[in-house]
Amino acid sequence: MKSTQLFTKTRKQIPADETAKNAQLLIKAGYIHKEMAGVYAFLPLGLRVVEKIKGIIREEMNALGGQEMLMTSLQRRELWERTDRWDDEKVDVWFKSTLKNGTDVGFGWSHEEAITDMMRNFVSSYRDLPANVYQFQTKMRNETRAKSGIMRTREFVMKDLYSYSRTEDEHQKFYDSVTKAYLKIFDRIGLGADTYLTFASGGAFTQFSHEFQTVTEAGEDTIYVHKAKKLAINKEVLTPEVMKQLGVKRDELEEVRAAEVGNIFSFGAKKCEELDLYFLDEKGEKKGVVLGSYGIGVTRLMGVIVEHFADEKGIVWPENIAPFTVYLARLGEDSKVVAAADKLYKELSTAGIEVLYDDRDERAGAKFADADLLGIPYRVVISEKTLQADGCELKHRTKTETENISPEKLIKKLVD
Ligand code: ATP
Ligand code: MG
Repeated sequence: MKSTQLFTKTRKQIPADETAKNAQLLIKAGYIHKEMAGVYAFLPLGLRVVEKIKGIIREEMNALGGQEMLMTSLQRRELWERTDRWDDEKVDVWFKSTLKNGTDVGFGWSHEEAITDMMRNFVSSYRDLPANVYQFQTKMRNETRAKSGIMRTREFVMKDLYSYSRTEDEHQKFYDSVTKAYLKIFDRIGLGADTYLTFASGGAFTQFSHEFQTVTEAGEDTIYVHKAKKLAINKEVLTPEVMKQLGVKRDELEEVRAAEVGNIFSFGAKKCEELDLYFLDEKGEKKGVVLGSYGIGVTRLMGVIVEHFADEKGIVWPENIAPFTVYLARLGEDSKVVAAADKLYKELSTAGIEVLYDDRDERAGAKFADADLLGIPYRVVISEKTLQADGCELKHRTKTETENISPEKLIKKLVD
């Protein structure tokens, strides 16, 4: 991608009401557009990051045997009434509307009900189970507060996985494998060291649900981390009994702010029974299907990453999810410089390295400031000066020192 072809530009001005660091930086750099409070659009650069995050999650969901699909946003009132979750007193984030014929519909804030009802068409025998399905879907939630930039929005991308198992035992095994897959995902995204498996309330069936909480001052939750055991307890369930149960002592726990990037639940067979999803087991007995529900906040995760890694110059993307690996800055319009930069751009692209080629007629300072603000991992400069040395100059986003390097060595280094 060439900068001159990218319609977005870095901006100096940001909306006055934007108080969150993640959104301020993402707007300045041209990753997102603020439509209104709590509602953001993803521009080409932002979409690349979202897709990178989704790609990592998708690989791990497929490895678990998950099958991807896409449910609808419009949902039936009657389904949610059956599980007693239609009433605004029960669920306070509903967006609702009415069709022209008077039928009430809700905008999906979660999909247990719709997917379970859909599964009735396919599940009737033990042979049809287990089944694990997932989607990346835009959830709508009428959140009261929306002050954390893209970390809490009224419209956001969630990955939601649902597991349908025959027995509690089968369910528990899958649940444990999802826990492992989640930790791997956060590792691959670069947040592994600071993301904790957290014991939390909200298990509709079990004592706990499990949250995945990333330590950050920008988070809205308070958790108590046990660094040695690499686990945490959400403030809402921190009691002497729970600490005893988990084998931890209060003075070993550290209170920190954190953001919930994922949450997994066991529902037992209750929800499937409410929604009339049963199967016949080997003996021909009718049984309720055991449901598990597993969410990751994809766009919240992107905000958490910005908050977590950004420095005074701007965003810092971990390499695995950066929109581009290289920011190629061409300095000056000298024909030799232009030819060398064009050539390197082509060669890097051919080698499968994603490059944002700053081919604008701008001064060095402006290009370097943009490279830093955008947070691309490697900055490569080609100028008359670098052509007199090894050919180009390489700098990592988080380091200050630069390295003179030949184009051949650079490509080799980035490919390995
Ligand atoms: P929270 O307690 O932060 O409101 P939740 O417990 O209601 O979140 P879940 O229903 O567990 O959220 O949704 C799964 C994941 O979706 C969460 O772990 C979080 O990462 C993400 N998420 C939830 N609400 C929002 C939101 N308003 N904006 C962005 N992401 C969200
Ligand atoms: Mg949650």
